[in-house]
Amino acid sequence: MEEGKFLAEYQPLVYSQMKKNVEHERLAHAYLFEGDSGTGKHEMSIWLAKQLFCEETTDHEPCNQCINCLRIDMQEHPNVQMIAPDGQTIKVDQIRQLQAEFSKSGFEQRQQVFIIQDAEKMNVSAANSLLKFLEEPEGSVLAILETNALGRILPTIQSRCQIVHFSPLAKERLIEKLRNEGITQQTAELLASLTNSYDKAVEISQDEWFNGAKDIVLQWFDHLKKKDPQAFIFVQKKLLPLAKEKQQQRLIFSMLLFYFQRERNQFLQQGLVKDLNQELELILQAQQKLEANVSFQGVAEQLALRIIA
Ligand SMILES: [Zn+2]
Repeated sequence: MEEGKFLAEYQPLVYSQMKKNVEHERLAHAYLFEGDSGTGKHEMSIWLAKQLFCEETTDHEPCNQCINCLRIDMQEHPNVQMIAPDGQTIKVDQIRQLQAEFSKSGFEQRQQVFIIQDAEKMNVSAANSLLKFLEEPEGSVLAILETNALGRILPTIQSRCQIVHFSPLAKERLIEKLRNEGITQQTAELLASLTNSYDKAVEISQDEWFNGAKDIVLQWFDHLKKKDPQAFIFVQKKLLPLAKEKQQQRLIFSMLLFYFQRERNQFLQQGLVKDLNQELELILQAQQKLEANVSFQGVAEQLALRIIA
């Protein structure tokens, strides 16, 4: 796989910065890559490893064809060690094994790289063991830690690493990735309107409440769109049982907003103008009232009355 192309497209800033560091031989000894799943953290780890071992880089880009690049791709390079959680955690034995691998490598002892995926899953003893290793590296070692939960990485480890932030995915790319997970286009678009985090979007998509609610809110939208008086009764009959918690109440309005925006965009794509500004404006006002602690039922019923009026 050509990591460079992926990174140039999806993480242009991080990519150009890292490329400069490679060019000027200014790589840090330890990196902590922080950001959502799918944002290119692991691609960057692999790309860096290839930078250090590729036999035929061109313009500071690994060839992806030489024996070293291929061995890295197959996770068979003796100087590149990768650690991923064994079950729910990364255990101290995994870190010790890593250290053992490094100390026994004989004639190939030059640069060494280790990559720890989901580094927040290190248990305390693994983290402490790693910390010692980061403090007293033997030979030339590049350590790369990847995480999507920076807050769960021990501060002592954070302070030993240069932290690199990977931006959330662009909306189109997020939708594309969710589609690859088997999520329908409409749901993927809805999720992308609710969050720009891939991990969060997947979590929401697996939520039972969400999956029921998105269809019920769609029914409400249909009534509202047709200015059907049913839209008013619908609040008490169908929405109230769904809207027990504040977060759920917020999501209901966010979903409704999404359905109206999508309706407007679909008309625009056909070259038609459907003026939904008033509806959109009313939903935004409803969201503000909810935040001002007006009851959900009151806000939703008033919204329905105004839209169907
Ligand atoms: Zn190569």
